[in-house]
Amino acid sequence: MPVFPSYLTPEQEEELRSVAKAIVAPGKGILAADESTGTIGKRFESIGLENTEENRRRYRELLFTADAVVSDSISGVILYHETLYQKTKEGVPFVKVLTDKNIIPGIKVDKGVVPLAGTDGESTTQGLDGLAEQCAKYRQDGARFAKWRCVLKIGDQTPSYLAMLENANVLARYASICQQNGLVPIVEPEVLCDGEHDLFTAQKVTEQVLAFTYKALADHHVFLEGTLLKPNMVTSGQSCSRKFSPDENARATVLALSRTVPPAMPGVVFLSGGQSEEDSTVNLNAINTCTVAPKPWALSFSFGRALQASVLKAWRGQDDNREAAQRQFLLRAKANGLAAMGQYYGELGTMSAGGESLFVPKHQY
Ligand code: 13P
Repeated sequence: MPVFPSYLTPEQEEELRSVAKAIVAPGKGILAADESTGTIGKRFESIGLENTEENRRRYRELLFTADAVVSDSISGVILYHETLYQKTKEGVPFVKVLTDKNIIPGIKVDKGVVPLAGTDGESTTQGLDGLAEQCAKYRQDGARFAKWRCVLKIGDQTPSYLAMLENANVLARYASICQQNGLVPIVEPEVLCDGEHDLFTAQKVTEQVLAFTYKALADHHVFLEGTLLKPNMVTSGQSCSRKFSPDENARATVLALSRTVPPAMPGVVFLSGGQSEEDSTVNLNAINTCTVAPKPWALSFSFGRALQASVLKAWRGQDDNREAAQRQFLLRAKANGLAAMGQYYGELGTMSAGGESLFVPKHQY
């Protein structure tokens, strides 16, 4: 096999490496605030708020202007296209608000899931056309990392070979394009928790999906040190009759990762995937204290629902509730920052949406 020089210069590699490393600095993780207009609309519906551009702006302003202490636990925020260009009421661009707090702006670049014909309801993710130009523009406009979500589901016949191969390949193409344009790619192959499957099945499927993903990243010459992985935690299916403990979930998760994810990759930032706020935090903590296998990567969070459920509930769209809502965000951020270091002992877990399930069937982002 011919060997070609790396397609990145040492300077480009160094920058990608340092951004990825900063995102997973000890006790820090990501706020995923990149809900599409449709998805944020569903969240607003739950608090009886109209899905207008101004309400979306007000809500994101509330999150991004929360107390500076938030940045003790939040190193990055994933934005949606619209949000990257929005400003505070006083006219300060959100990108500036975040960077002034030492929080790195990121951007969702995929264009959503589409069906894979001839499969049992499986999908791939679209958005490669024009991606290089789009990434270059986002970088110019302040983003330093990107996210692309692929979805796999567990069923009698799924995930199929085709779905694992196709999703791994599209993630690798996306990652390569991001790196060539100066963005750290967050690689997100989400195995959904929909179904009755047990923990062992979830572990095996996650292992296989991650193995396909890292084979494709290697095939595409992706610079692993300048990437992050955003997987599901390994948990049993939402409708499984048996419940497993956080330690059992952690063991399955760490085993799956240790068997498939190279140590060159600096950090795993889990999605919350419909777990309650408290379950997400407790499981993340258990993953960090688990000793079943070596863990050569940071193990942190990139939560959407599990960082925002209590915030939305406290806010309800009312300016008078802004501070109360920001306090909820701060508490959740702090709890997850501690869990990312294996130091969460549950003392912060008394919030309005703490134990509530945030499960959404066949979740779209
Ligand atoms: P949840 O934490 O709500 O699963 O979302 C994270 C995310 O960014 C999914 O792509």
